[in-house]
Amino acid sequence: MDLAFDRQHIWHPYTSTLTPLTCYPVTHADGVSLYLEDGTELVDGMSSWWSAIHGYNHPRLNQAAHQQINKMSHVMFGGITHQPAIDACRKLLELAPDNLQHVFLADSGSVAVEVSLKMALQYWHAKGEQRPKFLTLRHGYHGDTFAAMSVTDPDNSMHSLYKGFLPEHLFAESPRGGFWQEWDDNDIVDFRRQLTDNHHQIAAVILEPIVQGAGGMRIYHPQFLREVRALCDEFGVLLILDEIATGFGRTGKLFACEHAGIAPDILCVGKALTGGYMTLSATLASKDVADTVCGGEAGCFMHGPTFMGNPLACSVAAASLELIAENHWQQQVKQIEQCFAERLPLLNHYPQVKATRWLGAIGVVETHHPVHMEAIQALFVEHGVWIRPFGRLIYMMPPFISEAHHLDQLLNAVEAALQTPECFQS
Ligand SMILES: *Cc1c(COP(=O)(O)O)cnc(C)c1O
Repeated sequence: MDLAFDRQHIWHPYTSTLTPLTCYPVTHADGVSLYLEDGTELVDGMSSWWSAIHGYNHPRLNQAAHQQINKMSHVMFGGITHQPAIDACRKLLELAPDNLQHVFLADSGSVAVEVSLKMALQYWHAKGEQRPKFLTLRHGYHGDTFAAMSVTDPDNSMHSLYKGFLPEHLFAESPRGGFWQEWDDNDIVDFRRQLTDNHHQIAAVILEPIVQGAGGMRIYHPQFLREVRALCDEFGVLLILDEIATGFGRTGKLFACEHAGIAPDILCVGKALTGGYMTLSATLASKDVADTVCGGEAGCFMHGPTFMGNPLACSVAAASLELIAENHWQQQVKQIEQCFAERLPLLNHYPQVKATRWLGAIGVVETHHPVHMEAIQALFVEHGVWIRPFGRLIYMMPPFISEAHHLDQLLNAVEAALQTPECFQS
């Protein structure tokens, strides 16, 4: 592959044209493995950012794509419908919390978040109330488009760069108590205060249930979510849950909100929706939200992307949701969690390690110093794994089909990095 062309002309996620790092050329992927151009096999610890939960080149997902592409790849969704959309949405509603009755299909996670925020704003407009604010948490991540970014952690997403353009919302302290720790009532105090003081202005609370992903890989106590749901009900504020990372079994429950036994008014899903095959997301709404939005001045929900309900993506999503419904993920994720629970605490004694944490098929090592990206990436590749840390976080969310020896290989590589000072900035 022409890596020089890539380096000179192609932007990768969050990269500089001035100091581009070399990318690893992948030619194909199969099962839990990525294959480099030189034949090197890498055990994937990232599921291509939470999405390839069933592994790569999956026969049933391939079959769904092949069958659909021979019929039609795409057709507009305005005034037209098709079986793949009906199959995907029916399966999605079967899996999602019962109160969610309406599905809006969108292009990517960020757009699903945009859609959820627009729904909440249209909801209050229809009720004749001015509610221009959203309440969310510090250390959150909801995407890179403007509205999604406006409810993402202000420091991590550098709100200072877009001052004057980016709407300013309310940020409560994120809970400090971990999933496996004792619940501490102090963790809800700031959130409760902000909601109490500002509820007349707040259209909705938006947050990532149980796991704050890209904003810090924090895994928090389910009681926090129960308190949030109760406070939203008390003050009559909508609750949007962003399960774009956590949805479809990743945390050991089908949806992370099930750890708390609560349901949102609006739910965003994406990432693993197509098993990582194609970009597709969905925003699910309760009947009350949908009916109120559509009973308002516009008489409809004001959104409709060109590639809405893309049949190719929907047919693969339907096949992926069918795999989920067969329930093998529960045992698979439990095995991955057991492996993390056994091995991650053994890393705590390394001087570089600040903390380790895990839940379901998510394992995190937080270090004292930021990683040295080029060095640690090279070390991981040498050890035959693909793990992409950021800042002070080395984290893994392997495909659910990963076996014990794959997980050992990932954890051995992480341990090797912790023994290598060159992998960290000092
Ligand atoms: C990845 C992610 C998004 C954004 O999804 P994209 O498909 O990258 O736009 C939003 N919210 C959460 C929680 C995510 O993990």
